[in-house]
Amino acid sequence: MATRLPSQPKVGMVSLGCPKALVDSERILTRLRADGYAMSADYQGADVVLVNTCGFLDSAKEESLAAIGEAISENGRVIVTGCMGSEAELIRAKFPAVLAITGAHQYEAVVEAVHEAAPPGQGPFIDLVPQPDIKLTPRHYSYLKISEGCNHSCSFCIIPQLRGKLVSRRIDAVLREAEKLVAAGTRELLVISQDTSAYGVDIGHEPREFHGRQVRAHMTDLALELGGLRTPEGEQPWVRLHYVYPYPHVDAVIPLMADGLLTPYLDIPFQHASPSVLKAMKRPANEAKVLERLRQWREICPDIAVRSSFVVGFPGETEQDFAYLLGWLEEAQLDRVGAFRFEPVEGAAANMLAGAVPEAVKEERYSRLMELTARISAEKLAAKVGRVLPVIIDEVGEPDGDGDIGATGRSQADAPEIDGNVFLRNVPAALQPGQVVNTCVEQADEHDLFGYIAG
Ligand code: SF4
Repeated sequence: MATRLPSQPKVGMVSLGCPKALVDSERILTRLRADGYAMSADYQGADVVLVNTCGFLDSAKEESLAAIGEAISENGRVIVTGCMGSEAELIRAKFPAVLAITGAHQYEAVVEAVHEAAPPGQGPFIDLVPQPDIKLTPRHYSYLKISEGCNHSCSFCIIPQLRGKLVSRRIDAVLREAEKLVAAGTRELLVISQDTSAYGVDIGHEPREFHGRQVRAHMTDLALELGGLRTPEGEQPWVRLHYVYPYPHVDAVIPLMADGLLTPYLDIPFQHASPSVLKAMKRPANEAKVLERLRQWREICPDIAVRSSFVVGFPGETEQDFAYLLGWLEEAQLDRVGAFRFEPVEGAAANMLAGAVPEAVKEERYSRLMELTARISAEKLAAKVGRVLPVIIDEVGEPDGDGDIGATGRSQADAPEIDGNVFLRNVPAALQPGQVVNTCVEQADEHDLFGYIAG
């Protein structure tokens, strides 16, 4: 453990928003740690509090403002960063005491603001033993961010305004980070970006040397390299791809899933199925053959789990469009579905579209969609009863009155925080988070599986 000297200032962090924001928080904390700061788990012990905000939906903005307010009243010395940094005036008007406001990914500016608010003690060398990077996610899984920003202009989204055009990280830097994470105990890598299938487009898929090989900044090369990583125990970490659009080159990663190099899981935000709604949404890769592609993917890799999200009540969505979506979902048989009622986001082009759907209709469509997707999910999970599946352990419980210990984990079809769980009974006391165990599935409900470790 590092020795904390009395002069070492402490930083508190409140991280809101999506997994991408969490990765930003981790980077900021890693940098501050290297500069000699210690972390505080509560407001009282912190010399300064960083609030990493989310400003995507109006409801997220409210949550961010509430978090800033709480940090001000509990501590008083607050720096705001993240997506809401682009609304500095609004924040200042509400909380004039905020010390500094920086935008998303402005790591240098945040670090500088912290230096000003709580000058670092004796520099980066006060720690006697170096520590691994600071991670806010549990040690056994890590988000790996491969790019920032987005080149699309979906009409309901302001991310390109907030975060700018696509900027891909160098492939060698991404792979080095992945290697370091796996060496430090990560058993599952979650690849994230705004558009994972577009990785490297902005830099002409520029190749870089990595371990003597030329590797392109391209999703397929990235997937191949990540699939070749090994933990210190010689195990292959799970590698999950998020935010993939169904461009034709996505077909190339499905055989890697069938061969076990990648976790058979694709997170594809389809958002809708009706051609007229997709057109109004200005969605990328809006092509009609998705159902056929899904069928082919399942033929190549029968265990592939496809997760997606959908928006209901988009302006102009008719009952016919919605019925089309339900019919499409029935055919697509997606494993995991998240749904949102359309909510206008300040600054989004969709707000200007005619045909606003009344709230009551949105609500009714949302319930119908959830009912259908819950039924499909329940059927798909019921089909897993009796199978033996690899499960990564997230948490091991305490013994109950009879001395039995339960554990919570996830199958390969479950990403952390957004999908379901596998609940295990009677696990050995020595079981550790991050271990992968073969699990007999004995029961299923709409979202989760239940079972025990195969003998
Ligand atoms: S692809 Fe569309 S929804 Fe996704 S970040 Fe880009 S503009 Fe937003």
